[in-house]
Amino acid sequence: MYEKLENCPSCQHPQFDNYLICKDHTVTHESFALVRCKNCGLVFTNPRPNKGELTKYYQSDSYISHTDKGNSLINILYKLVRSYTLSKKVRLIQQFKPSGTVLDYGCGTGDFLRTLEKKGLEAFGVEPDNNARELAEKKVGGKISSSLQEVDSERKFDMVTAWHVVEHISDLRETLKLLRKKLNKGGYFIVALPNLNSFDANLYKEHWAAFDVPRHLYHFTQISFRNLVEKSKFKLVKTLPMKFDSFYVSLLSEKYKNGKRNFLKGFLNGLKSNRKAAKTGEYSSLIYVLKKK
Ligand SMILES: [Zn+2]
Repeated sequence: MYEKLENCPSCQHPQFDNYLICKDHTVTHESFALVRCKNCGLVFTNPRPNKGELTKYYQSDSYISHTDKGNSLINILYKLVRSYTLSKKVRLIQQFKPSGTVLDYGCGTGDFLRTLEKKGLEAFGVEPDNNARELAEKKVGGKISSSLQEVDSERKFDMVTAWHVVEHISDLRETLKLLRKKLNKGGYFIVALPNLNSFDANLYKEHWAAFDVPRHLYHFTQISFRNLVEKSKFKLVKTLPMKFDSFYVSLLSEKYKNGKRNFLKGFLNGLKSNRKAAKTGEYSSLIYVLKKK
């Protein structure tokens, strides 16, 4: 079943413009419409599968964040880069809190949790997908919660991280409110998101791999995300680039656009995206460092 939103999930405004029609390239090959809020500019998938139905769109061996399998060249590249970016993510969060407790919301197969533990940080995970959660539990040797409600209600954290997760959350405002409650005073919320204003998004349009409909329910720009941040009582402290995402997204987008891989073209467009972003700040993906107000 599909759910048609009558109000913007960020600002509640009832009027939208048609934005784009995109295809689910990974699992079902269904098409989905994107609309743009006339008030805050948020682009979102509408109509979208309702919450219960969404799980079926994650049932694919090639859904990379939920599996450790897959030996295609793109997957191998993804894994190589991942080990480097994991350490970089830990160094980044330690700039803001050198020690303390971390809740990784949407921890996938648990690689970030394991890296945090290796660096001596106390880490907890939440992951709704059963397969991913089981893999994560094996990796960290402990229990991972399937939802925020399952985490000890008294428990608070110094940092919450959500790496490419916020765009997947059905109950957007409610979940941000709950995550904020989970933070200690002065705690940080670190969010990574694809950027709809990046060069690769503009170049590939409906074939842009980071649309990833219907798993991605929201398609943020820096402005539309900042609007949501303000409403959710966080303060934006810093915005940082994720320079590898432009390559990964361009390689996949080439495949979606032309039906075949073109490594050279994907690589060159990834490079071009980063070069342009060095001037504009509009990288393919961005990390937002938010502080609890
Ligand atoms: Zn809006």
